[in-house]
Amino acid sequence: MLEGKVAVVTGGTRGIGLATVRKFLQNGVKVVLFGSRAETVDKAVSSLKEENASYEVMGLYPDISNLKAVEEAIQEIVGKYGQIDILVNNAGISARESIYEYTEENFDKIIDLNVKGVFNCSKAVVPYMKKQGGGVILNTSSMVSIYGQAAGCGYPTSKFAVNGLTKSLARELGKDHIRVNAVAPGVIHTDMVDVLPKEVIQPIIDSIPIGRMGEPEDIANAFLFLASSQASFITGAILSVDGAGMC
Ligand code: NAD
Repeated sequence: MLEGKVAVVTGGTRGIGLATVRKFLQNGVKVVLFGSRAETVDKAVSSLKEENASYEVMGLYPDISNLKAVEEAIQEIVGKYGQIDILVNNAGISARESIYEYTEENFDKIIDLNVKGVFNCSKAVVPYMKKQGGGVILNTSSMVSIYGQAAGCGYPTSKFAVNGLTKSLARELGKDHIRVNAVAPGVIHTDMVDVLPKEVIQPIIDSIPIGRMGEPEDIANAFLFLASSQASFITGAILSVDGAGMC
């Protein structure tokens, strides 16, 4: 259903982003993955091409907290493919420090990437989507955008803002046939979770009713559905994909 579409996936070099890039490629989408560094971007693109030489995939590494850099990258993509149909705002960092240790610099850093990055990438693609008659924007929120988090307050704050952008842009852009949705993952088995101490993560996993952590592909499947025409009347939704876990 998505054959021939063009997608950008931010934070596409590993974890949920890489699984989403792979899922889109398997479904005939041309994908541009964004990462933070040339080495990791090149490595992700080469490994995908090794998996399947016919995948149409390329990588760029604009600073997504800088609107001008993002606009130049999107211009390059539209210059190459002539269209942009799907944007997955997935790049993100998390935080665990207490408010007592939280620095202003770290708070700015998380908001710059997790919130301003979503704003910048969305702002850069919407003129093209509007001109071509529509498109889909998908954001990576988190279960912490529903429950908050008992440490690292910048992270849940950023994800509440992602939900705000999702719902507001859905209302603003519906008339331009641009749908905007978010997926709110629970605990997903990626580097972001692997860095947590076992005594922090194990009780959370034990409390997940479905009996396991999520895999990156669980989130990629949700993005695939939301990007497809099967979701044509779904916009402004925050879809929990969390095994009914709570944090
Ligand atoms: P990850 O750490 O494996 O991947 C993060 C991605 O973001 C990487 O591709 C990385 O290159 C990119 N990134 C990091 N800093 C960047 C920067 N400064 N500029 C550009 N890109 C940068 O993490 P993940 O678990 O795959 O997380 C992906 C998204 O899912 C994030 O938005 C995260 O908040 C969200 N999420 C993850 C979980 C989880 O349990 N893993 C749960 C809820 C939400």
